[in-house]
Amino acid sequence: MATVLDIAKHNPNAAPVAVSDAARAAGFIEKKAELNVVAGAAPGGASLIGLTRDQLKDSLAAIGVPERELKMRVAQLWHWIYFRGAKDFSEMTNVGKELRAKLSQAYTLARPQVVSEQVSKDGTRKWLIRMPSTGPLDKGAEIECVYIPEVDRGTLCVSSQVGCTLTCSFCHTGTQRLVRNLTSAEIVAQLIVARDSIGDWPHAMPPEGAFVPTDGGRFVSNIVFMGMGEPLYNIGDVVAAIDVMSDGEGLTLSRRRITVSTSGVVPQMERLGAEANTMLAISLHAVRDELRDELVPINRKYDIKQLLDACRAYPGLSNARRITFEYVMLKGVNDSDADARELVRLLKGIPAKINLIPFNPWPGSKYECSDWERIERFSEIVYRAGYASPVRTPRGRDILAACGQLKSETEKLRARARMMAEQGIGAEGVYALGDGE
Ligand code: SAH
Ligand code: SF4
Repeated sequence: MATVLDIAKHNPNAAPVAVSDAARAAGFIEKKAELNVVAGAAPGGASLIGLTRDQLKDSLAAIGVPERELKMRVAQLWHWIYFRGAKDFSEMTNVGKELRAKLSQAYTLARPQVVSEQVSKDGTRKWLIRMPSTGPLDKGAEIECVYIPEVDRGTLCVSSQVGCTLTCSFCHTGTQRLVRNLTSAEIVAQLIVARDSIGDWPHAMPPEGAFVPTDGGRFVSNIVFMGMGEPLYNIGDVVAAIDVMSDGEGLTLSRRRITVSTSGVVPQMERLGAEANTMLAISLHAVRDELRDELVPINRKYDIKQLLDACRAYPGLSNARRITFEYVMLKGVNDSDADARELVRLLKGIPAKINLIPFNPWPGSKYECSDWERIERFSEIVYRAGYASPVRTPRGRDILAACGQLKSETEKLRARARMMAEQGIGAEGVYALGDGE
């Protein structure tokens, strides 16, 4: 039986969803979800963290800042929040005392709560982040966000939704039942949380012993939308968040260093290119429609031909700005020599990079990762066709931080609570069990 979390009926701002348990089993393309976006300026007492310039402007107007001052005040707040990483209005020394007092009465600079931080032995960090509640019946959505440091770059993998409505058969997030869109502020807040944690603000320091890039650049230099969710099903907020993240007077991330990964929401791809002007990654994973229908069920709506045509039309595509094609290596499913040759044939003429991803197993998954020799052989064929260095090194495996393994703790607890209720064990037992999953 599916549990119906019908919060949205009571609270128009609230998130969750009615998602059928049987949807995936029945081979549905998508689970049903009520995607209510909590948009607009922060209500009284809410945090200003993550807001766009327009939302900040509305928040200032709402506490009586005169129209003629708005532009200047937004610029001041923008600098403190996004350039300096201010955590308190009292730091804003060039903002008058009176306005600072008004601001702190009405708003905060609170970050979403970091429920847990896990650090892998390879330096990868994973945060479980709880968003503030949107109403009396919402405990606050939880999402995961992963930081992958290398010597010359630091990549932050962000989520665009809580869970995902799509049901790709090899992806753990796809099994999550709770689904809602994240607001642009919630997407930006993931970068703020990461910068706080690794000391990536002027005058801040990384924690003792932390692995961060040593090339003199920002500790978070790249963003990939490869966490939970399908970014192109939340394109408005994803585009707004990218605008904030790439703003030259604030967080200053280059759009060329932001990559949005999609399972293939063809009708939104052009808009992404035109409005966000970021790099694009496509979760291809199969070279025949019959198999892709099964692995990435959105293929039944938009098939491989339509997807590749949309890639060819992606704004700004050139040899210097290639599309990344992601291909998960599933043993005996999509990893033959013939598959590799067909992959190369299909991508002919598209400026492309190919990223082979070793499958990351999760409890209950029905696939195995291809053997290493098979991956090498596959990559050799792809390499001979002119595509360089394609295998993605798994990172953070010991903390389940790798691609497609993200699934929120709330969701796991809920599943455990259900299981225990069925067995007649009280809810307190859920917490007593700890988090040994
Ligand atoms: N929804 C978007 C972005 C998030 S998933 C998309 O599907 O593109 C990020 C990448 O991880 C995708 O390429 C996805 O197919 C891949 N992925 C999902 N589950 C995986 C797993 N268990 N092992 C390896 N890669 C996985
Ligand atoms: Fe959603 Fe991407 Fe996972 Fe598919 S692979 S279920 S689109 S998060």
